[in-house]
Amino acid sequence: MSSSCRVAVIGAGAIGLSVGWRLAQAGCSVHIYDKGRAGQGASWAAAGMLATAAEVAAGAQEAFELGRRSQELWPQLAAELERAVGFSIDYRTQGTLIPAFGVQQLDLLRETFDVQRSLGAPVQWLSRPAVREREPQLSDRITGAIFAPEDVQVDNRKFVAALKFAFLDAGGRLHEDVAVRGLEFTDNRFSALVLKEGTASADMVIVAAGIGSKSSDIEGLPEIPLVPVQGEMAAFKDKQYKIDTQIRDILSRLEKIEDK
Ligand SMILES: Cc1cc2nc3c(=O)[nH]c(=O)nc-3n(C[C@H](O)[C@H](O)[C@H](O)COP(=O)(O)OP(=O)(O)OC[C@H]3O[C@@H](n4cnc5c(N)ncnc54)[C@H](O)[C@@H]3O)c2cc1C
Repeated sequence: MSSSCRVAVIGAGAIGLSVGWRLAQAGCSVHIYDKGRAGQGASWAAAGMLATAAEVAAGAQEAFELGRRSQELWPQLAAELERAVGFSIDYRTQGTLIPAFGVQQLDLLRETFDVQRSLGAPVQWLSRPAVREREPQLSDRITGAIFAPEDVQVDNRKFVAALKFAFLDAGGRLHEDVAVRGLEFTDNRFSALVLKEGTASADMVIVAAGIGSKSSDIEGLPEIPLVPVQGEMAAFKDKQYKIDTQIRDILSRLEKIEDK
């Protein structure tokens, strides 16, 4: 990668920060722009499940295979990132359980299990006693479960905090609270970002603005059929408290790097 490559990344979520980090490591001059704070979009709201097997759906063979390849890269990514930043991102490999409550849910879950197996997903069927043995804290109303032993998880909030840390440490520049309004082209080639105040020129642009990666939000982008999907998260209080304390510590270390 040429040291003269100048890259603009729109969006400082898990995707924009990962790509930006790798490009900065490769010697590019990388500027990431986010309309809010880095890592506070969907990447903050997520549950951190890297559950390729548990979440595979009928007809999604290609997405499943891509997910499996991505999952294979995670141990190395997590280890490298943790070495770079000096704190844990809680990459865990205990697998994923999908439990059923009652008989009706059990029948539906069995159908899901058959689809997963037909696509080659590494999943196991657990009887009620086997679920309780694996996870004794679960309700005794559970009638069975799918267990995906190769699925993994990460603390997504620590992950994005670590990425921000690693990106800045690799020499990347982050512009928070700076919305990108459009793209400018010269001779049909991308040449600059349009910001509220002025423009920012670059040799190439990476659009990682999540659900904001639409032509209605960023002028000059091609029409892409992006549809938001609602997700919901439940977090338990004392675990969350512990996580928040650690995140605060990580964020205060980040501020020190940004002040340099
Ligand atoms: C409740 C919930 C739970 C989820 N759980 C999981 C899970 O367990 N496992 C999993 O793999 N996935 C999960 N997901 C999906 C996952 O969070 C997303 O796929 C992932 O975070 C997307 O990362 P991203 O970097 O593309 O987007 P984001 O994290 O949304 O980052 C995009 C960034 O772009 C910025 N931006 C947008 N428009 C502009 C603009 N015009 N100018 C500048 N900046 C802009 C935003 O401010 C934002 O910071 C979940 C999602 C939700 C909502």
